[in-house]
Amino acid sequence: MLESLREKMVKKQIEDRGIHNKRVLDAMRKVERHKFVSARDMSEAYADYPLPIGYGQTISQPYIVALMAELCALDGFEKVLEIGTGCGYQAAVLSLLAKEVYSIEIIEQLAKSAAKRLGDLKYKNVFVKTGDGYKGWPEKAPFDVIILSASPPDVPKTLLEQLGDGGVLVAPVGEYFQELIKIEKHNGIYSREKITYVRFVPMVHETVRKEG
Ligand code: SAH
Repeated sequence: MLESLREKMVKKQIEDRGIHNKRVLDAMRKVERHKFVSARDMSEAYADYPLPIGYGQTISQPYIVALMAELCALDGFEKVLEIGTGCGYQAAVLSLLAKEVYSIEIIEQLAKSAAKRLGDLKYKNVFVKTGDGYKGWPEKAPFDVIILSASPPDVPKTLLEQLGDGGVLVAPVGEYFQELIKIEKHNGIYSREKITYVRFVPMVHETVRKEG
């Protein structure tokens, strides 16, 4: 039942909207999205919209996860940095497409439960830590791919610095109006491409969060 809903999700929401990367489609077919949402929302796990995961945060719409994964053009050898682990769904998808995924989540409770969930589901190449994504993960840099699932006003410089040469960064940027952008780094030069308009939760600063 859930498997057929997942298959339908991939066909209707993802393939029919123009995502054709076979590895991405396979990963979306494999990851059991219903195990990343609350029991109450299980019946909606394969629906075409974001769902609440607590603490005012959401699990991204499946199509957006697939689109961002396709933009990263992963072939299995990459070291990926994800900002905004949330429930860990996108990290699980990326872990099937890359060598290692390092994921940072600012809300400690979400980071802990995502790490536990990913461990229980045997996603062994995902490493989650609680922290502020604006700082990146300098001990593990450089990264081949950096992917943001929360929207900063503009791409943080620190993250651009942690991108390796030949690397790709995919992120929503902007506050009320957000655009999904893709940045590529070649010989130290960054090129920036706009993809589409999106709506993500804001990427917050540690201080703002603690005071709020
Ligand atoms: N990747 C998730 C989406 C989670 S929503 C998925 O698979 O669906 C985005 C997450 O980014 C939220 O959990 C939020 O707490 C987190 N976030 C916001 N600002 C952050 C920051 N500065 N550093 C790390 N995580 C941040």
